[in-house]
Amino acid sequence: MNSSTNRMLFVAFKSLNETTGDFLNGTKIESIKDTVNTFAISAAVLGAAADVIPGAGGLLAALAQTGLVWALYVKINKTLGIAISENALKFVGTAIATNIITSAGYMILAYAAAAVMSFIPVFGQAGSAVTHLALGYILIYAAAVVYLNFLTRTYKANGSFTFDDSDKTKDIIRDTVKDSNVKGIIKEGKNAFKEAKDNGDIARAQKELKCPNCGAKITKEQAFCSECGLKLK
Ligand SMILES: [Zn+2]
Repeated sequence: MNSSTNRMLFVAFKSLNETTGDFLNGTKIESIKDTVNTFAISAAVLGAAADVIPGAGGLLAALAQTGLVWALYVKINKTLGIAISENALKFVGTAIATNIITSAGYMILAYAAAAVMSFIPVFGQAGSAVTHLALGYILIYAAAVVYLNFLTRTYKANGSFTFDDSDKTKDIIRDTVKDSNVKGIIKEGKNAFKEAKDNGDIARAQKELKCPNCGAKITKEQAFCSECGLKLK
């Protein structure tokens, strides 16, 4: 990941930093960027969205079933020193995923359809299997950018972030997604995936599966990380 292919992620960093008065410094941005990349690659290689064909609703279910979205948010919060309960973050993660799928459903479906074709020899292309992997990556990437925008919106002048598992938070999430150009983020996520594939990150992660949360070795069959308990499927 770099700033030329991750423009929207960096725009989100910039807004958050401006709003919070340099709450992020360079080190935190680098650390969060790495976290997003690690989780996105894990979502791809763990097949977080693999068996979900076709239909955006199923895809959402698959993502919600893994702990990946909210575990990503927990990790970002830890880096930033934001204290919000894990339950509230689960709520926020589900709401953000739902809104992303709703606002970009047709694009998600197009990717899912391309993945379906990989099972039909006549239509099967080398690229289709890749598309299959890309789905999980793209959704984690989009969920990360939207979350940073959400943090910018919920920042209060006293230095805290105020959100919880209420309807009010749900409304803020809906508005954030509406203003976030999700379609553009998804396109960019696709490019970021391509980059991760081309530079060998995906192949390396496939060869040696690691928990995105704690880095412990895992197998594709494991439902939970044996070290940190992260729900993997
Ligand atoms: Zn773990």
